[in-house]
Amino acid sequence: MSTADLVAQALATVMSPDGRTPLPETGALSEIVVRDGGRVLFTIAADPTDVPAWAKVRDLAEAATRALPGVTSALVGLTAERAPSASRATHAAATIADPSPTQATQPSKPARLAGIADVRHIIAVASGKGGVGKSTTACNLALGLRALGLKVGVLDADIYGPSMPKLFALKGNPEIVTGRTLKPLEAYGCKVMSMGFVADADKAMVWRGPMVASAITQMMRDVKWGTLDVLVVDMPPGTGDAQLTLAQQTPLSGAVIVSTPQDLALIDARRGVSMFQDVRVPILGLIENMSYFICDGCGKRHDIFAHGGARMEAAKLGVPFLGEIPLDIEIRERSDAGLPIVVTAPDGPHAAQYRAIAKAVWTQLSAGA
Ligand code: ADP
Repeated sequence: MSTADLVAQALATVMSPDGRTPLPETGALSEIVVRDGGRVLFTIAADPTDVPAWAKVRDLAEAATRALPGVTSALVGLTAERAPSASRATHAAATIADPSPTQATQPSKPARLAGIADVRHIIAVASGKGGVGKSTTACNLALGLRALGLKVGVLDADIYGPSMPKLFALKGNPEIVTGRTLKPLEAYGCKVMSMGFVADADKAMVWRGPMVASAITQMMRDVKWGTLDVLVVDMPPGTGDAQLTLAQQTPLSGAVIVSTPQDLALIDARRGVSMFQDVRVPILGLIENMSYFICDGCGKRHDIFAHGGARMEAAKLGVPFLGEIPLDIEIRERSDAGLPIVVTAPDGPHAAQYRAIAKAVWTQLSAGA
């Protein structure tokens, strides 16, 4: 029997909060993914009105999985997503086909949420840890895609520290269109939604663990994006429970991983690549940010954090390398001022680098990567 089947069998002994329905029969269980022979990952979609009871079920499911022979680790995500309305489900044309993994069980309910109507591609920009320039890259990548003539949206899912209001120089309360649907704000031709528009920094602190993924998927769904070629999601940094759940439940066309060149950052980047691969999201590539520094005084190039690590890592992992962005004062100053370099210095070398990365991403997306 495969490990995934063994896990499914063990989960049949775990009852849902009603005390009588075995977990695999609740429809709340995602596909069970087994990596490296023994790392088990799956998610449970909790009833949002009874998260504490479902959290206990999650703990039991995790313990039952860990106790199995051959299981080296178990990561069980909990989400509290409200069910999409019938009309949305009907309109959800963009659901990504879920190819069968090597070892997985197919649950009664799809593991991924349906796509958003009229959004062709959703891509994640992620990093193994914070501070590597993920948000700056996401913003300029989105504007690079826009410069290709595409219709682009940005969802700031970095709800612990939303940066998009600053990067796009946007402030204010999004207008409510109908019911609970919000109109995104707009800057430089991109539609932008951020938790920073709807909650103050203190309130963002209440989003923890399983609620993070739910908050983000709701934010994604409750926004009137209109027709988009690409929705760029600036993921929360790291590769924990929330990120895994989000990666597993969002119909992503692919993920871009941002890293600085140091070894330590690359270890985190590798973790990011592996997390997306675990849930079979294609890796569109690695970007090396703060790759090198050109001294504005002497014009000499300095490889402050060493250089080329991400390119080598990409080759090792067998994923595309998308390009290098230098550490540059102009990038930082323009970012902090809400004047992204791709639109405010379009003729400079940095804008050209971001546009080249955007082009490489779009080439893969349009080829159906
Ligand atoms: P993250 O999203 O990974 O936490 P940010 O995009 O917020 O990182 O960037 C962190 C800081 O580094 C910001 O002040 C930003 O302006 C700066 N920064 C990012 N990329 C560069 C770069 N290539 N050159 C100079 N500064 C950068």
